[in-house]
Amino acid sequence: MSKRILITGAAGFLGSHLCDRFIKEGYQVVAMDNLITGDIKNIEHLFPLKEFEYYHHDVSKFIHVPGNLDYILHFASPASPIDYLKIPIQTLKVGSLGTHNCLGLAKDKKARILVASTSEVYGDPAVHPQTEEYWGNVNPVGPRGVYDEAKRFQEAITMAYHTYHGVETRIVRIFNTYGPRMRLNDGRALPAFIGQALRGEDLTVFGDGSQTRSFCYVDDLIEGIYRLLLSDYAMPVNIGNPHEISLKDFAEEILKLTGASVKITYKPLPVDDPKQRQPDITKAKNILGWEPKTGRAEGLKKTYEYFKNLSSEEWYKLPK
Ligand code: NAD
Repeated sequence: MSKRILITGAAGFLGSHLCDRFIKEGYQVVAMDNLITGDIKNIEHLFPLKEFEYYHHDVSKFIHVPGNLDYILHFASPASPIDYLKIPIQTLKVGSLGTHNCLGLAKDKKARILVASTSEVYGDPAVHPQTEEYWGNVNPVGPRGVYDEAKRFQEAITMAYHTYHGVETRIVRIFNTYGPRMRLNDGRALPAFIGQALRGEDLTVFGDGSQTRSFCYVDDLIEGIYRLLLSDYAMPVNIGNPHEISLKDFAEEILKLTGASVKITYKPLPVDDPKQRQPDITKAKNILGWEPKTGRAEGLKKTYEYFKNLSSEEWYKLPK
């Protein structure tokens, strides 16, 4: 009998890649989404498969899934600042109530659950690179607090279900990830730069561009999540690419890749924007035997191809 897995946030960037991976591994996939930031096009190709079911549902409300479940991946949540600043209450609800509902379902079905946490739990980190033991530096009442604190609560309630109810839980702390099916207009640096290059606009860098990010290609991240789910490790694990680059250098890489004849312009840094972010992935290496395999040049090329092949209507689409 093949295993059955529920994936929340299935129509989003990461959720849709997870659906593909688990279908490929021979699982029955139950996908759930309310499309608040996702796009049904990301999973439409799976609809004809008998191993695939889709439920349109808001996971912040009670979740009912008929039949057994072996695993749950809770990925539903707005993930980019442009989204969670626009829908702050839904963001807080899906990280808290949505996680509570998923954990209750896991308990009921005796399923193992993995929740998608984030490097944002480290806030603007005072420790560099960030190990899982670092507790973070988050401003709870700053604009990003709605996301960061929802995810911190998510981790706390997940550990509580593990400790007090014996639910098998896994927590992945995801660092910046990129790849096909990101939205061009989601406000994150990489799609923003590529979108600007495709439209022939100048690339906007916030601040002086010295702030660093590390970007992980989506296939590498999915492999890390797959391994963590099947591991027996219940504490949080960082999954990300430790190769750091400044946003200014990154913008220059995008200019070279796309061949766009535009300039880089600078705008003021948003409030509470982290200055540095780099995962320490020692734990993932030791426990999961995982490390990223895709170099930035290769990952960026695949991502650029994806965006270039979208209709030009998509290049100009405004955020939802
Ligand atoms: P995304 O916005 O592309 O996908 C999120 C999906 O969740 C969307 O399809 C959206 O419609 C759905 N969703 C949101 N609220 C929902 C609700 N209440 N009920 C049902 N569905 C709902 O974002 P993503 O980049 O794919 O992120 C997925 C998860 O990974 C999120 O939990 C996010 O916090 C986490 N994460 C992502 C990154 C990254 O770099 N992409 C980094 C850290 C953490």
